[in-house]
Amino acid sequence: MTDNPGRAVPDDAPATVGCLIAGEWVSDGQRADRVGPWTRAVVSTTRQATDHDVEVALRYARRGARAVARMSPAARADVLERAAAEALAQRDELARLLALELGKPVKDGRNEIDRVADTFAVSAAEARRIGGEVLPVAGWARGVGNTALTHRAPVGVALAITPFNAPANLLAHKLAASFAAGNTTIVKPPPQAPASSAAVVRLLLESGMPPEAVQVLHGGGPVGAALSSAPEVGVISFTGSPETGAAVARSAGAKRLVMELGGNAATIVCEDADIGAAARVCAATGYSNSGQSCISVQRVYVHRSRYEEFLGSFTLEVEKLTVGDPLDAATDVGSMVDDGAAERVVSWAHEAVAGGATITTGGRRDGATVIPTVVASPPPDARLIREEVFGAAVAVQPFDSFDEVLATCNDSRYGLQAGLFTHDVRRIVTAWRELEVGGLIVNGSSNYRLDHVPFGGVKDSGFGREAPRWMIDDYTVVKTLVLRGISLFGDQEDAR
Ligand code: NAD
Repeated sequence: MTDNPGRAVPDDAPATVGCLIAGEWVSDGQRADRVGPWTRAVVSTTRQATDHDVEVALRYARRGARAVARMSPAARADVLERAAAEALAQRDELARLLALELGKPVKDGRNEIDRVADTFAVSAAEARRIGGEVLPVAGWARGVGNTALTHRAPVGVALAITPFNAPANLLAHKLAASFAAGNTTIVKPPPQAPASSAAVVRLLLESGMPPEAVQVLHGGGPVGAALSSAPEVGVISFTGSPETGAAVARSAGAKRLVMELGGNAATIVCEDADIGAAARVCAATGYSNSGQSCISVQRVYVHRSRYEEFLGSFTLEVEKLTVGDPLDAATDVGSMVDDGAAERVVSWAHEAVAGGATITTGGRRDGATVIPTVVASPPPDARLIREEVFGAAVAVQPFDSFDEVLATCNDSRYGLQAGLFTHDVRRIVTAWRELEVGGLIVNGSSNYRLDHVPFGGVKDSGFGREAPRWMIDDYTVVKTLVLRGISLFGDQEDAR
């Protein structure tokens, strides 16, 4: 397949992945080919889950849940620690798969796999810490003479639905925390990255994860919807767009949900900022993975006194990015997930120009690759500002007062994460208090995430916090034990 002459098509055979059901990789079901957005060749072939597969997987999950819950936390932690080492051992291979399926530069892919290893290691540590509480039951008269305890019990069956943009680490977050908590998990990977997703599951199995702990069902919306509505599923962790998230919530009904949805993240650059450093950071983090990150730098607001200086430095930094073959270790910006996504981003940039903006660099695409695009001063109602771009275009706008820019940032349906460049502590605290986001990064852009720090949104960006410690809360239920007539505490009226 060569409508991109000059692009080397790797000669290795496309990966073929079946569904993992009841401990077996099943290779019947309808075939779906993934054509890589850069190579334009078939890079993986999947067998899609049938209705029957969904039924069998749900039945097996109920039995699997009991088996996983009986495993000791120490044994679960050991598996996850081995998986952390295994992820690093398979780093290059996995990064290559991500590049082939998604056009993600191997540089970004290796970074994602390093984070997978961290996510497994942190989940292992959290598995070892799961416990409970002795409640101060004798502090109230009706409780005197009794003992009450709680512990965190696994929910049972978890469903992990993942998006295409970071299919390895987002799967690692959901599956590792769920397993750490003692659940079985059904994974519904994105259709754009089936082989990368299956490879992460495979490495966990190679590290000793029991087959009862995980199943993988490939497919699109209908498979996700059938799983979401199943009564066997106790908790759903979903990452994807707000529209799909709402559909999942409708199918799920009254189930426990964690929703990690979209964003149009803002970064504020104040007049006291190191403009050169801010420009470098925004260039590096506005276009990594072609901007296909929920916290990618999308809107940069710069104090008017430094606006021209920032715009000039930022444009120069963006022009230094190496654009091209995602399999080349020197590439900073590869292709987007498909041509349609690239065309949407370019058209939004031109639409902003029609409203009075200026493109200082980029503004075009080569196939699915968007040449990194900087759009100066788009009108506030441009889609580039108001919607989620999820692509290699960044809007830069001036602001006059700090209060005004906080209000501008908050004038959004989204609220995932924001960046702030300043050394002024008062502004830092004000922004932390006032910005309607789940997280604020100071002296960094919005696009920064530590995998052991709570991450998640407000408003249409979702709810719940993804990071193993917080996810274990979502993946477990508090179970109470009351011992009547048995008292751990004093139970007499006076000291005699
Ligand atoms: P998407 O919403 O199109 O798909 C996400 C997943 O949902 C896929 O596996 C898809 O097959 C599945 N799905 C589709 N319809 C479904 C249905 N009716 N029921 C159940 N599952 C269904 O998202 P995408 O294009 O893969 O990913 C991009 C989106 O993800 C962006 O909006 C981005 O901001 C968001 N995202 C958010 C975070 C976060 O942590 N907040 C992280 C990464 C990506």
